[in-house]
Amino acid sequence: RNAKRDRTGVVVWTAETATTHRADLRQLTELRTGIRAGHLRLHYQPLYRARSREIDGAEALVRWQHPQRGMLPPGVFLPDAERSDVILELTDWVLAEAVHQTALWHRAGFDVPVSVNLSAAYLAQDRAVPTILALLDLERLPARLLMVEITETAVLTRPDQAAARLAAIRAAGIRVAIDDFGTGYTSLGLLPELPIDELKIDRSFVMRMHDSPARATIIDSVIAIARSLDLTVVAEGVEDEPTAAALAEAGVDLLQGYHLDRPQPADQLESKFTQSSDGSTGHPALVGF
Ligand code: C2E
Ligand code: MG
Ligand code: MG
Ligand code: MG
Repeated sequence: RNAKRDRTGVVVWTAETATTHRADLRQLTELRTGIRAGHLRLHYQPLYRARSREIDGAEALVRWQHPQRGMLPPGVFLPDAERSDVILELTDWVLAEAVHQTALWHRAGFDVPVSVNLSAAYLAQDRAVPTILALLDLERLPARLLMVEITETAVLTRPDQAAARLAAIRAAGIRVAIDDFGTGYTSLGLLPELPIDELKIDRSFVMRMHDSPARATIIDSVIAIARSLDLTVVAEGVEDEPTAAALAEAGVDLLQGYHLDRPQPADQLESKFTQSSDGSTGHPALVGF
């Protein structure tokens, strides 16, 4: 990504390129230290039922509370982490923290399913599934309250292995979502073979869908496919009410986006459950608009 190409398309290795790569390595070392020092944070972005606008889950999204640079979004450090084994240590931390938080909510009477993003390299480890099951056991969290999100690309790296791992995850009662759906190259023929529960339509199709007939058509097609395979459909990146209304009308099950809620620390979200939950049913919040 830092390499430059000349007019014939040949990659030119510049001094600037080399410097950037050294800087990335330094950041990676710093990230590893930061993980061990407890500098990672999870923010949770709620998912809302499209029709009732009730909270029906939350996605855990990692941030790095850097001592000098402030709160860093994953785009700044994840790509580097994913090119190294730092992603494994990072994911172990994210899983442990998310399962712990979900168990705290569960014990407080809020059954909020939380989803965690798993990278391809994490899933490729033999220990991936046993590690996740051990965490559920440790925190006494019902498996139905955990969900994992995998991108199409992660599945396609080794489709047979990924399918076997996802099947083991689902056999334990954990749900599985395909993230950023539509941006990868999943053949439609592969989709029925995948042991999954949910499709998350990438936000590039969702944003400005109301003034793009092409995007709306893609969304309608994904909904039709999901219906025929009995999968839940989520739209991410919902930034305005016309889009939210159109998605609900089209038959999307769950909505996620800045229009509904930003990713936020657990305690902020928790106060939202408490505000509007009646407490007796243990159901999460009903938030009005
Ligand atoms: P993602 O899994 O597709 O997560 C959704 C991203 O879209 C989040 O960005 C979220 O803040 C952002 N978003 C939500 N609603 C809107 C909206 O209405 N408009 C716009 N423009 N954006 C919206 P974030 O938190 O920066 O995360 C970016 C990506 O980093 C995630 O995309 C995911 O692929 C990855 N990621 C985040 N946390 C983790 C993690 O713990 N592990 C792994 N492996 N990847 C993670
Ligand atoms: Mg995700
Ligand atoms: Mg996503
Ligand atoms: Mg996305």
